[in-house]
Amino acid sequence: MQRSINIIGAGLTGSLLAIYLAKRGYTINVYEKRADMRKATVEAGRSINLALSSRGIKGLEQAGIAGEVLQHAIPMYGRMLHSVHGALTYVPYGKDKSEHINSISRSGLNIALLNLAESFPNIHLHFSHALERVDLAQGISYFKHQGETVSAQAHHTFGTDGAGSVIRQAMEISPTFVNGTEFLAHGYKELTVPPVGEGGFRMEQNALHIWPRGTYMLIALPNLDGSFTCTLFFPNQGENSFDTLKTPEQIGEFFQRVFPDTIELIPNLIHEFQHNPVGLLGTVKCYPWHYEDKFLLLGDAAHAVVPFYGQGMNASFEDCLELMPFLERNEDWAGAFALFGETRKPNADAIADLAVENFYEMRDGTAQPAFLRMRQLESLLEAQYPDYLSKYSMVTFHPEVPYSVAKQRGNAQNAYLLALCEKHEDVLEIDLAKVYQDLKQG
Ligand SMILES: Cc1cc2nc3c(=O)[nH]c(=O)nc-3n(C[C@H](O)[C@H](O)[C@H](O)COP(=O)(O)OP(=O)(O)OC[C@H]3O[C@@H](n4cnc5c(N)ncnc54)[C@H](O)[C@@H]3O)c2cc1C
Repeated sequence: MQRSINIIGAGLTGSLLAIYLAKRGYTINVYEKRADMRKATVEAGRSINLALSSRGIKGLEQAGIAGEVLQHAIPMYGRMLHSVHGALTYVPYGKDKSEHINSISRSGLNIALLNLAESFPNIHLHFSHALERVDLAQGISYFKHQGETVSAQAHHTFGTDGAGSVIRQAMEISPTFVNGTEFLAHGYKELTVPPVGEGGFRMEQNALHIWPRGTYMLIALPNLDGSFTCTLFFPNQGENSFDTLKTPEQIGEFFQRVFPDTIELIPNLIHEFQHNPVGLLGTVKCYPWHYEDKFLLLGDAAHAVVPFYGQGMNASFEDCLELMPFLERNEDWAGAFALFGETRKPNADAIADLAVENFYEMRDGTAQPAFLRMRQLESLLEAQYPDYLSKYSMVTFHPEVPYSVAKQRGNAQNAYLLALCEKHEDVLEIDLAKVYQDLKQG
């Protein structure tokens, strides 16, 4: 049977999915709300840069594009913590430099995927098509295009239209559909550390910078032009919040007091703070992800996560990778979609939970002496016992470990190690062999 396939959303997930399906010989129509980002300046959307790690790289490898993408990435080997007094503490991410994450441009990556997608004669890209509604039973999508309503019917439609998915909203009508979208009380705002001169970096370029401050934090990822994109994760309301920090005096006084070393780094602070938008941070947990064999949600549309593990895109690429064998093994795609959802959902839930947990760890825990000792202890374990994997390492560098296993095993490990590090001021006092054995026995 020649299946007709529509994909809604030519973001990161939709573009990669189109490439996977085209490689398998299907003809695909991709509909994207925005104008073609390669030709028009379109609103950048969320976050200018992203951390790409092993799961995402594996997804890109299958499309044959990982090498090209990584050429435009900046490796980040660890976290650089900035104290209120300007002291810097460097904490490596992995056992050695081979374990690192990569700062990449969101639009650069999306453009690379769109260019590759367009090179397939069986992928047809339709920009400026904003999905307005769907007829689930008939498999019809209705778009607004140049002021007119146009429709497209397909045997199968993939909903890769992001966290605010119109397709997910249509599925919500079913009494058996469970939708648990939850927003954090924090939002985010992006600020810029410009390059020095012609592309020099003002801070260590091969690190993800963090200013942990208890209930909020600032982070910064490097860009190829020598700039850093900072993201302030901050309460939406309350004493120190986006709601209360408004005037140049308030903003200046707050940054001078809480992030003093950024005053020099972010010359346009007041203007950017007053004009850059506040983004929402939410977790989407819904189920089932499919409607018969007609619609399937993937990526953020199915399981948006908060960005604190740097895994939303990585997990979405992993979705595409894991879906393919189900489609190949099953002639009946309703069954394939159902089996894929059953298998993938526990892992999507796990990374959603891990991401929220990591928010508390990053904004608060990373600055605690016991946490820093725990990372030291883990470095010793990693050096002595190559099969020891930290929670961060399982999530970020080991795609063969499902997220659900990383969550369960990683949290148990961390609870044990943190308790030890709270008791010992010096990690060298700790009996490494015993710790390793204890962890092995669970
Ligand atoms: C601040 C922040 C930082 C992040 N950092 C990281 C990180 O470091 N690492 C990481 O792995 N992940 C990160 N993420 C998560 C990552 O951005 C998402 O997981 C990823 O973008 C999901 O891709 P997607 O294609 O599923 O959705 P999206 O990127 O949202 O793409 C959806 C596409 O669908 C289109 N669309 C939407 N509605 C319609 C419609 N009605 N009709 C037609 N088209 C439509 C959109 O225009 C868009 O092109 C971050 C997220 C945020 C908010």
